[in-house]
Amino acid sequence: MAGGLARVTPTRRLAHHLRARHDQDCIAHGLEVWSTPDIVTWDELIERMFALDRQAGRLDGRWLPASTAQLLWERLVRDDPELSPLLSSAGVARAAHQSWRRLHDYCIPQDALVGDETPEIAAFGRWCRQYQRLLEARGWVDAVAAQARVTAIAALPGLEMVGFDRFTPLQEALLARWAAAGVTVLQAPRASASGDASQVRCLDATAEIDAAARWAAGELHEREGRRIAIVVPDLALRRQAVRRTIDRVLAPSTALAGGPAPASHAFELAAALPLVEQPVVAAALDLLELFVRPPDLAAFSRVLRSPFLAGAGAEGPARARLDARLRRYEGPGLGLGAFERMAGERACPVLAAALAAARQSMSKWPEKCLPSNCSGNIFSLLSSLGWPGEGRDSPEHQAEQRWGALVSELGACDEFTGTISRAEAVGMLREMAARTLFEPQELQAPLLVIDPATCAGMSFDAVWVCGLDATQWPRPASPDPFLPRSLQARHGLPGATAELAAAEARRTLDRLLASAPRVILSAPEMEEDAPLLSSPLLDGIPIGNAGRGWAEAPLAVALFERRPVLERRVDGRMPPITAEEAQRGGARLLELQSACPFRAQVELRLGARKLEEPGLGVDAAERGDLVHQALAALWSELGSQEALLSLDPAGVGAAVARAVATALREAWRDADELMRHLLDLEAAWLAERVLEMVAADQARAAFVVADVEAACTGRIGPLTLEFRPDRIDRLADGSLAVIDYKTGASADVKAWLDERPRLPQLPAYVLALGAERVSAAVFARLRSGDTGYVGAARDAGLFPGLRVPGSSGVLKPYGSWDELLGAWHRRLEALAIEYASGEARLAPNPARACEHCHLHALCRIAETDAAHGDEEVGDD
Ligand code: SF4
Repeated sequence: MAGGLARVTPTRRLAHHLRARHDQDCIAHGLEVWSTPDIVTWDELIERMFALDRQAGRLDGRWLPASTAQLLWERLVRDDPELSPLLSSAGVARAAHQSWRRLHDYCIPQDALVGDETPEIAAFGRWCRQYQRLLEARGWVDAVAAQARVTAIAALPGLEMVGFDRFTPLQEALLARWAAAGVTVLQAPRASASGDASQVRCLDATAEIDAAARWAAGELHEREGRRIAIVVPDLALRRQAVRRTIDRVLAPSTALAGGPAPASHAFELAAALPLVEQPVVAAALDLLELFVRPPDLAAFSRVLRSPFLAGAGAEGPARARLDARLRRYEGPGLGLGAFERMAGERACPVLAAALAAARQSMSKWPEKCLPSNCSGNIFSLLSSLGWPGEGRDSPEHQAEQRWGALVSELGACDEFTGTISRAEAVGMLREMAARTLFEPQELQAPLLVIDPATCAGMSFDAVWVCGLDATQWPRPASPDPFLPRSLQARHGLPGATAELAAAEARRTLDRLLASAPRVILSAPEMEEDAPLLSSPLLDGIPIGNAGRGWAEAPLAVALFERRPVLERRVDGRMPPITAEEAQRGGARLLELQSACPFRAQVELRLGARKLEEPGLGVDAAERGDLVHQALAALWSELGSQEALLSLDPAGVGAAVARAVATALREAWRDADELMRHLLDLEAAWLAERVLEMVAADQARAAFVVADVEAACTGRIGPLTLEFRPDRIDRLADGSLAVIDYKTGASADVKAWLDERPRLPQLPAYVLALGAERVSAAVFARLRSGDTGYVGAARDAGLFPGLRVPGSSGVLKPYGSWDELLGAWHRRLEALAIEYASGEARLAPNPARACEHCHLHALCRIAETDAAHGDEEVGDD
């Protein structure tokens, strides 16, 4: 660059691009050492000039960082009594802060806001005056005010402006003023490639990205060392979808893994994300919140799984076990002290020591203090916890640096916040991190995926520009809501009118066309079901061949062809069970073996358990338990239908209320206030269902309750299993009805009739109790609007409403009750033999079995043909 001039760019990305290019040139010229070029963004230039002026005594005042200025705007907006409570003050403040910058960048006099008719503009005028007064009173200088105050001397020896599509009026005025004062101001020549440009149509936005990725793969395959760009409008919004589509083409191995694809290094995706979404920063905020708010189980779990904590690598397995234990056995009342003790007792000494050090550190952080004090304490708390851990990569290191700067910015907020609590300090940090966009400077990949604004000033060997449909190029006018429209139009704010938006689109497209010797412009034909037209700006650009003739994903094919040859072994069997194992198990064994032999073997024999999810409220399993406990309590008290029928409605209601209270007693004892509210709701639901069930019992033929949840043992094939039927009723003829309570929709007679029965519990109970003694197998279904008995019985009169084998419907093929029991016997025995032999193949009907299974990662069903081969067997 000429004469030591600082190069000034509109974006950080371009500054990084120019630095990288400079490094490449130096290497290409055989240099081993070279000086770092002085390349800054416009905002960085102003901040630097302000600092130089201040050091030299030419200016007074204190620099107000953008993130702190944003906090000021948020407070002004939030404290405005005239703002509608329905509006998000943070969102409004963000927009207002941007309008404040525009107001100055386009030299619109602040007086023009006074007396305007719309409430938005009046409110903005009010906030501007308050903000201005605050700056003056405190001696702060924000980036906007600094532009007008910095002296030309601070820009010496001069500037070279690179990549600006156009300057704002304020920039033009400043550059002219500095040039008049003797500062050299140069304009870098714009890229002026004028080669091939063609346009293509693609089916939709996804097909467009796919085609662009295949084209890029072909270009890179043909000639190495090229720099290619795919330009995608709204890239920040579509980031994940774009990454997935390009990964499928450029890094097909990521899709072969069957799990989430790791970030590919085959291309660079230039789209900044909020700093709070960087994992290392999210971990820092989680750690801080653990100490400044009442922690919950989810917070402990996150800490245990965090890789950004001291000893995370060495103690990883022990922490995973502790996490599983907390999920299983601990409740919401777990405190930090108990957590620290458990870490020490359960093979996590580094974690325990870090927590103890953090406790010490917290004792020095007053409950309320100035942000500058909070800032220091935050650094020391995180450091005592060993954050950010070891072995960080470059993007994590950069995110950590940016986080450090953010915590320092928080420390500069003393004057406008006064003292704040620890929780408020961490909340402010989270807000600041959420609106700070961060983009790590990564090593350059040959393919850059970038949005149209960010690639200003860059040049490439070939470019594909996506999304050139008529609805987006030009975009509809989008005037600033806080500035008078007439002034926006007069001062030429981008997007203020349709004409200005069209001019902006033309300028951007011309720049993109000049950015590479080969440019392909594409437009989707459809958006969902709506047809799209090409942008009128493409008129006159020749039609390309829409990808025909381009190599079909050569990189993907090459990678796939060079994949290692994997040996395929299907080993669907465990060792047969031992004599001891043959004595263990119950109805769940048969249910699991029926649905998925693999799951039965690894859950029951290897102990693969699901990690509990800490959650709020009563989950489906807990609800099922409560139903069982309430009905057990009720029938333990009543004992027979006769006792039930002797009660008047009030007596029935009271008995049900007692049963529900018994069921909920334990949950109540451990519940906090919120949980008690939820349990009240649960109690109301439960009482209604039990009353509905009682009504069904009142309508039945006479019965007495013979057993409630009594254990019995049954021999099925080679297994001796223990069962615990929910209830056994003795019917009028002395035979038994076995009853199973269910809250799900799946409880139906059809669940017993497949060769591999879906719910084999009741058939197993019947066989265990002795087929000759039992005359009915019954689901008691408790569901809103669908409570009642369903099942099968030997005779219609014994238990009205149940199906009788041989009569009609799904049981018609079974000539009699005995025939049905014979089929059950054969099927359950086959399952028991299968289990005993160690049979562990994957689910025969994955569509049904895998939906609620937690073992996908272990069995890797997704990588097998079975995942796609079987169809759901309908229940109806
Ligand atoms: S996910 Fe499906 S195949 Fe895998 S263990 Fe679970 S039920 Fe079996």
